[in-house]
Order: sequence, then C-alpha cells, then structure tokens
Amino acid sequence: MRISYIGIGSNVGDRAGFCRSAVSALDAAAGVSVLATSSLYATAPLGGPPQRSFVNVAARIDTALEPRALLETCQRIEQRLGREPSDIRWGPRVVDLDILLYDNEKISEPDLEIPHPRLRERRFALVPLLEIDPGLTDPWETPLADSLDEAEGDVELLEPF
Ligand code: AMP
Repeated sequence: MRISYIGIGSNVGDRAGFCRSAVSALDAAAGVSVLATSSLYATAPLGGPPQRSFVNVAARIDTALEPRALLETCQRIEQRLGREPSDIRWGPRVVDLDILLYDNEKISEPDLEIPHPRLRERRFALVPLLEIDPGLTDPWETPLADSLDEAEGDVELLEPF
C-alpha cells in the first residue's frame, strides 16, 4: 500500500457538499482508503475568469493503485459528480481532484506530474495538506511548509470536515 495526498476543490453549487462527496467517493473506490481529511477551507480563485470562491479540502489516502490508475479513479469521480469535460481550464468547476503527492514518487509525463507542479505556489493546496501533516516533505525531502510564505492566494478556515 502507498500513501498519497489528494487535493479537492469546488466552486459551483453546494461546494462543501461536493468536496465531502468526493472524499466519500474516494473512500468507496476500489483500492483506496481515506486515512485523514483536513478541514474545509474557503479560498480565493487564482487565475482564470472572474468566478466564485472555492471550497478546498485535502485527503491522505492509502492506495493499492499505481499513480495512473489513481488518476483515472480521480477523473471518474469528477465525471460522476458532474464535471463537464469541456470545463474551461482554471474556470468554474463542480469538483476537481488533483494528486498532490504519491509517496516519494517523481513523475513527469505530459498528462501526469507528481508532485503536482503547482503545489508549492498555491496556498489553497498547501494549507489543507499541512493541516493533515505539518511536517510533510516532498520527494526531495524539502518541507512543504517552506513554501507557505511565498505561495499565492487567500485561504480561510470554513468549517470542520
Ligand atoms: P485540471 O483541469 O486541473 O483538473 O487538470 C486536469 C489535467 O491535469 C488532466 O488532463 C491530468 O492528466 C493532468 N494532470 C497532470 N498531473 C496531474 C496530477 N498530479 N493530478 C491530477 N491531474 C494531473
């Protein structure tokens, strides 16, 4: 079993409900168990068109799935919860699941990069992750907390998971 961290965000409809449904769907997926979740955070959108703020949550999972199979599971959950394949990049979305970390793996392929390439730039990804595991390091053993000050975006605690 491998440990991975998934970042989840929604800025359409019942945003907190979509985040919770995505965590439940992950836990119900074959080969995935959710071990811990962060609180829910309200976060400012970064880039893209003007749009509603996001709700974000992070989950630590235990998984028997290889990274690519885990990505497919995440994409199936996005589709099942109603995300349209045509959603604009960085635009409004029902739900988005990103693989932030997968053990100490480094993967750099056109459609799969781990650690997630923008993890260190985004406070909406870092803050929930560090709530679960404040001492988390990347595969190069650099603490993620080192990037908090320079990361972008406003993040506010919204409610417990
Ligand atoms: P997004 O619109 O942010 O959900 O981006 C989706 C695209 O990012 C998909 O085509 C994925 O193949 C790609 N991608 C690359 N690395 C990752 C990752 N670590 N987690 C999730 N999606 C990824």
